[in-house]
Amino acid sequence: MPLRCISSEGDELSFEHDADSWAALRERNSRERHLRFTCCAAVVILKTSSLGTRYFAHQARGGCDTAPETQEHLRAKTIICKALKDAGWIATPEHRMTDADGVCIADVLGKRVADAQKGIAFEVQWSPQLSEITKARTDRYTVHGLRSLWLMKRPMPLNSKDVPVARLVSTDDGFDVYIPSEALVRGAEYMSSREIADLDASWRRCGTLADFVRGAVEGRFRFGIASEFDIRVTVGGVANWCYACGAESQPATWIVLDLGHLNPDFPNIFVEIHELGEVEGSLADRILETINARLPNIGNYRLAHRKPKESSATYLANVCRCGAFLSRSYIPHPSDKDRVLLEFGLNTGPGELKPFYEVLDRWNFIDPANPPSKRMLGMHGFGIPRFTFSQLQASTSAADGPLGKVRHTSYSDAEADQGNVRRGGATVRKPMFVSFTRETSI
Ligand SMILES: [Zn+2]
Ligand SMILES: [Zn+2]
Repeated sequence: MPLRCISSEGDELSFEHDADSWAALRERNSRERHLRFTCCAAVVILKTSSLGTRYFAHQARGGCDTAPETQEHLRAKTIICKALKDAGWIATPEHRMTDADGVCIADVLGKRVADAQKGIAFEVQWSPQLSEITKARTDRYTVHGLRSLWLMKRPMPLNSKDVPVARLVSTDDGFDVYIPSEALVRGAEYMSSREIADLDASWRRCGTLADFVRGAVEGRFRFGIASEFDIRVTVGGVANWCYACGAESQPATWIVLDLGHLNPDFPNIFVEIHELGEVEGSLADRILETINARLPNIGNYRLAHRKPKESSATYLANVCRCGAFLSRSYIPHPSDKDRVLLEFGLNTGPGELKPFYEVLDRWNFIDPANPPSKRMLGMHGFGIPRFTFSQLQASTSAADGPLGKVRHTSYSDAEADQGNVRRGGATVRKPMFVSFTRETSI
């Protein structure tokens, strides 16, 4: 059931037709019999599937070796062809290649220009297929100079650099594409097949099939972490006061690293302040420097290593202007009463990030207009306590001016204030990541 046949005038592509031109082509073919297949000598007839896909059918299959296709397979191929065409690429459905093993047919060959040496073989797999078969077919296309992109109802393998596979899910008007989420990338071997299939828990939507094809040809479907990228650092804290001098203060209690728009499918990394003090390397140093350049004006504290009297170990603590420091045991657990004290960006790369996060590579779909909601992980992939930041608001946005008049004598007061810090004239802006729901670890 192909989307392509030929005549003496060249390729005839069903996806380029509308209802009127399709009817005209059918009439002409029944009159002149000018259309033929590349696979066999069967008579070509023009059909429209129950899903509305236009295609060419063998009047009688006879000895033809091409496999019959499901309606979904035809529809997906048609969407891929149209998306390639819309992106300015050349789409060739049922592209036949011959090698020592005989003939193989790529569902859709996409090329940037007609005479390009390389291309992408888009393969739609609606019936289950073993990983080994997917790998073998991918290797075969590689020999023909093609990269492969598998779009499967039941993806196998799940997260392989060599064999790119995404999941295809039927919708009312086509398909959506999903890739494995953090939960699946980390936990597939411990999950049941039901959990692996769970769309909400284990997969991340990348838009429609047409959106995904466009992203793929624009190089936005990528494996692994970017070689250089901007991270966003958010510093959270609580309202407090210095026990020694009584100054109102906002100690920093945690930071979150967002790995930025080039790494959309990597989780955010949650680091408690005392953990930050234990991380070695230039990224931790730069984060600490940046915090200390601004935190004193916001929270009355700076971060420094301190040794409690009763202990031999030092740790990173919030230190007041008066010299007193906030002991680790007085820092409350992260909660939705916390507030954002600072946000800043830093340019970094995988090497510098490593002391915070051992990268577990995966496929990323980069689409800045539709970023996925991110999971949050503790350092080195450990879990963090479940907490949400529905009330969290930035206390600093316009400038790092002196600490404004903040009245809080207890957390219930802070709650009544809804976490807002009243600062003269400053607009209190909701930071971007507040809308994330932070789930428990996996
Ligand atoms: Zn045939
Ligand atoms: Zn003090």
